[in-house]
Amino acid sequence: MALDEAALETLGLGTMWVRRGASVDQSATTVDEPQQRAPREAVPADAVPARAAGFEPVRATGVGPAERHGREPAVGDFDRAPSAMPDGAHPASTWEAGGVATLDWDALEARVSACERCRLCEKRTKTVFGVGDRAADWMLIGEAPGENEDKQGEPFVGQAGKLLDSMLRALSLARDENVYIANVVKCRPPGNRNPEPDEVARCEPYLQRQVALLKPKLIIALGRVAAQNLLKTDASISSLRGRVHRYEEVPVIVTYHPAYLLRSLPDKAKAWVDLCLAHDTYRQAIAEEQARQ
Ligand code: SF4
Repeated sequence: MALDEAALETLGLGTMWVRRGASVDQSATTVDEPQQRAPREAVPADAVPARAAGFEPVRATGVGPAERHGREPAVGDFDRAPSAMPDGAHPASTWEAGGVATLDWDALEARVSACERCRLCEKRTKTVFGVGDRAADWMLIGEAPGENEDKQGEPFVGQAGKLLDSMLRALSLARDENVYIANVVKCRPPGNRNPEPDEVARCEPYLQRQVALLKPKLIIALGRVAAQNLLKTDASISSLRGRVHRYEEVPVIVTYHPAYLLRSLPDKAKAWVDLCLAHDTYRQAIAEEQARQ
């Protein structure tokens, strides 16, 4: 897979790219993503397209343990009685989501489109199941649909989606060719608030099934909320970046949410470092797979 330097220009990184031979100061990462999500369609006023010079990927420093703690996967919850469901469970659907782990893609998408497993069903326009190549090696996971995603039923549309597409193009990837994109929860939280833990727990079996069906070789967690929910941790995105985690045994790289990057030009350079780590981790996964054959 070749890195597409031409596509880097559209990311507006300019002189901030990691150039060949330059060191990366991970300790400089002090600005975390905001605790509350900003409007997803904030257009960058300071995007400065510029020539991207030579760069090279940053090597993975090893596979660290996934910071899993707290609540375990919730598939079994689908068989619980209504009185045993966590807060936020939608009572009308308690018994409707059993057997998710056996569904194929189309059946899973249909199940999600009719889901009333949590309160987020009440104000959604459309469920946002996921989009992309169902045989892709790369999977990107965000936190939740925003306003436009809710209207269109597709993740990462609008300005943030365009930036994400540019980031993918820089890695010679495209959402309709060799990437699959999904969210932690499939329905829009009202007012773009962060999804509540019980909502994430109710929706997680769908994501777990998507991962099981896709069998990606690499997952990129987009943003603090997605990373914390996937990895079951309260750690900051600054501390989660730069390491290889695991979700359902798949390597996970954490980077910033594109909507955040639209407002933070300096952190675009850090996001590129993350993508380079993802690129190297993917290549390593391929090499290990070939060695086993
Ligand atoms: S967010 Fe997930 S669990 Fe909640 S209603 Fe939507 S699809 Fe169902």
